[in-house]
Amino acid sequence: MDHLNSTWDVIVVGAGLAGLKTAIELSAAGRKVLVLEARDRVGGRSKPGEICGQVIDLGGQWVGPGQKSLLKQAEELGVKTYSQYIRGKALMRLDGKLTESRTTIPKLPLFSLLEVGLLEQRWKRESRTLPTDAPWSAPRAREWDAQSVESWILKNVRTHAARELLRAITRTLFCAEASQVSYLCLLEFMRQAHGLEVATGVEGGAQQDKFVGGAWQIPRRMAERLCGSIIFDSPVQEIEQHEDHVRVTTPEARYTARRLVMTVPPALAAQVHYARPLSTRRLGLLQRMPMGSVIKIHVAYESPFWRRRGLSGMAFSNDLHFSAVFDQSPPDESLGILVGFMDAAHAVEMSAHGEEARRTQAVSDLVKYFGAEAAQPLAYVDQDWTQDRWSLGGYVAHMPPGVMTTYGSALREPCGRIHWAGSETANEWAGYLDGALQSGIRASGEVLLAQG
Ligand SMILES: Cc1cc2nc3c(=O)[nH]c(=O)nc-3n(C[C@H](O)[C@H](O)[C@H](O)COP(=O)(O)OP(=O)(O)OC[C@H]3O[C@@H](n4cnc5c(N)ncnc54)[C@H](O)[C@@H]3O)c2cc1C
Repeated sequence: MDHLNSTWDVIVVGAGLAGLKTAIELSAAGRKVLVLEARDRVGGRSKPGEICGQVIDLGGQWVGPGQKSLLKQAEELGVKTYSQYIRGKALMRLDGKLTESRTTIPKLPLFSLLEVGLLEQRWKRESRTLPTDAPWSAPRAREWDAQSVESWILKNVRTHAARELLRAITRTLFCAEASQVSYLCLLEFMRQAHGLEVATGVEGGAQQDKFVGGAWQIPRRMAERLCGSIIFDSPVQEIEQHEDHVRVTTPEARYTARRLVMTVPPALAAQVHYARPLSTRRLGLLQRMPMGSVIKIHVAYESPFWRRRGLSGMAFSNDLHFSAVFDQSPPDESLGILVGFMDAAHAVEMSAHGEEARRTQAVSDLVKYFGAEAAQPLAYVDQDWTQDRWSLGGYVAHMPPGVMTTYGSALREPCGRIHWAGSETANEWAGYLDGALQSGIRASGEVLLAQG
């Protein structure tokens, strides 16, 4: 079917938070907008699920006080927040040794702790030298981009515990191993997320709050504002650029618009055929920004038994597969729920073994953190994002060494009538729900300013 007769001002590809925000802003400015979405639902990496009758987020979930765009959007839509439960002691397991701590500062040997403190200051200093819109042009960008986080650790970090902690933190932030991520990419992440403490923290940090009823309601309610301008089950396969319009092909139809905003993650944008080739830099970038690997896991118990033992339910380790865990129990404590992640190499390994093996592994890891009471869960639910056809992983794409300085400048640069959004293109909170919204605001502004 050819929809040539109905021409839109703008076609938005993808109905995640970035695509929805782009479409809402452009519609509000009077533009005729069409959103093409590959899945049969909105939200992308924000998705609802259920465990023991409780609605849960299988994708993006937490929000921090610095994430102003997301908080504003949620407020506008009437989605309220509540605090992540953190009363009691957090558990940390390093090389098989379990420790409890009342603060977020991990219990490391003294020299390692001092070293991590110094490195945190150094990352702050170094990330401050990155220009907001162009980290690839920082004075030491080439030197930093030539190293992986792992090679940087081997060169700059002395103590074993500090090395292991930094590797585990890289896994948690990127869902990728330290050997896979450029050191410049890590510094840029630290700049965007306001430092290590905010990025990894709960109180005052990016994990401070959650949304009552789930973050997935935000894209659902945003979509309601678009009154039927989203077409589902419509994966974009080809984009042709002509002098005054773009033409888009899906398996069922073709659509024409004056401009197009691509909001899908880079690895998926790379699968689209561009009839007029993109710039070499843009094509290179799309081929070189892989998604991280993550499996999000919920485990339900009759009660939050860990709370009775003075534990917050938070657990973190460098050697277990279920390596970051939080309390997700309902406020009335009618159930105990733990939520967390298998990430990076652990996710790659456990994706291959299937759900039953992951359940066995997750429960066995929880017993190592919380003791025998964790051995008999009521239910287990996981979402393997590495196998998701329209995400290809999560939470976010990262840049391996050499990519940012060679291809990074193409990140937001329009290619003719094609504009780029999506959380990965944000210059603050990239990889987060907030970054997705910010990217939609930026891209829609760009389209409104564009001539023709
Ligand atoms: C397990 C997990 C946990 C996370 N936790 C948090 C968290 O706690 N807090 C937080 O802030 N962030 C979190 N994130 C990250 C956050 O979810 C994402 O940054 C955000 O949802 C990205 O939004 P987006 O619109 O940029 O991309 P997406 O949500 O990926 O949207 C892109 C859309 O494009 C569609 N699409 C893809 N290809 C095509 C095509 N060819 N044609 C048409 N449509 C296409 C996809 O189906 C999708 O709907 C998490 C992510 C995951 C996976």
